[in-house]
Amino acid sequence: MQLTFHGAAREVTGSCHLLEVDGARVLLDCGMIQGGRERHVRNREPFPFDPKGIDCVVLSHAHIDHAGRLPLLVKRGFEGPIYATDATTSLSHILLSDAGHIQEEDAQWKIKRLERKGEDASWVTALYTEEEALAILPQFVPVAFDTPVELDTIGTLRFHKAGHILGAAIVELTLGHGDQRRRLVFSGDLGVSGSRLLSAPATLACPDYLLIESTYGDRDRDETGDLTERLFQSIEKTLDRGGKLVIPAFAVGRTQELLARINDLVEAGRLNGVTVYVDSPMAIEATRTFAIHPEGYSEQARAKLHAGDAPLAFEGLTLTRSVEQSRAINEDRSPAVIISASGMCTAGRIKHHLKHNLDDPRATILFVGYQAHGTLGRVIQSGVDPIRIFGEWYPVKASIETIDGFSAHADRSELLDWFAALGGRPRQTWVVHGEEEAAKTFGDTLRTRFDATVAVPSLGESFALP
Ligand code: ZN
Repeated sequence: MQLTFHGAAREVTGSCHLLEVDGARVLLDCGMIQGGRERHVRNREPFPFDPKGIDCVVLSHAHIDHAGRLPLLVKRGFEGPIYATDATTSLSHILLSDAGHIQEEDAQWKIKRLERKGEDASWVTALYTEEEALAILPQFVPVAFDTPVELDTIGTLRFHKAGHILGAAIVELTLGHGDQRRRLVFSGDLGVSGSRLLSAPATLACPDYLLIESTYGDRDRDETGDLTERLFQSIEKTLDRGGKLVIPAFAVGRTQELLARINDLVEAGRLNGVTVYVDSPMAIEATRTFAIHPEGYSEQARAKLHAGDAPLAFEGLTLTRSVEQSRAINEDRSPAVIISASGMCTAGRIKHHLKHNLDDPRATILFVGYQAHGTLGRVIQSGVDPIRIFGEWYPVKASIETIDGFSAHADRSELLDWFAALGGRPRQTWVVHGEEEAAKTFGDTLRTRFDATVAVPSLGESFALP
């Protein structure tokens, strides 16, 4: 048995690990490499293995850095099944078709730029198109959580709840037979224990081999107190001033977590008559997907659902799909909450809402997610004034606020608690899915605290399974 790390090795994106068992080849994730030009180029390079020779893919969750190169894998010859949970299958539909759409737009933009300079643009193609992304959907084989599935010659697959986003799974593979039987666990991305909507990551028995993520392997999140309470204060203050509360949020995950918390506030009678717009077609689709897949919900959300109360539906919630509906939000001068994408304000309808509200002293712009360097979100968050949007300058008169702590990733303490709960030491642990420093620091912590045998694999590094 052999394991080779073809992505998310000493970096966060591009999750892709090849497991070879008795001549069979299983790919764990096939994610897009994200961030920066050099990484962008790497997505186009040939896979370091033959896609035709892969027997199956096991997908931990639908995020693009885990699923984003699947259409390319299929385009280049992979014909096997893609095992994923039901909700991951649905969310992959939404996220991959969107990724294909973005790839097409990027290619068109590049062609225009080259043609304007009088250069040859005939070589420019989209990494894959929306149509190519949709074409892989029949290869998905949805698998319920906690249900064993036999994979030909490889062994048994079981998905456990990871709590990171809807459908996110910890992958467990039981390989071989009898005395030779070995259990391999791939954590995927682990969620937080305090999600309002999703369950905490499942506790597993100690496996022989473990691949563990380390996004926050070297730090704990700042303690931010009760998130619902902080959200309430921000909403109440803004509505009292008669302004709009604009929240840039990722369409999948963050938007639904916000809605679940606002739902609690509305039902507790603390936000009477509030109008909450979800203004993003993708966020609306994702919210529907959440509504039909309660299997990954937290106990609290489940109890609510069983009592006949949908955790993501409340009076005053308005979903705006069309561009006309979106425009009408800004024509209406009454106070409201607007949740819109993209989460870092780099594209999408959020830019229009910022344009209309930045110079309004009654308004609040509330950041609930990480804002990367160089994004419009980061610029606004760091206090720059005035702000340029669509070529026009806007003075910043709105309050700019941030609530940390809405993360979908376990922090250092939560990762260590999860490892401790295995109740033993795997024969071998590999630390993946973290920037080099975070991965190495986390590896060191596992060694000193648990006397664990740990490797922090480099890109392309192979290990025979001991
Ligand atoms: Zn993820």
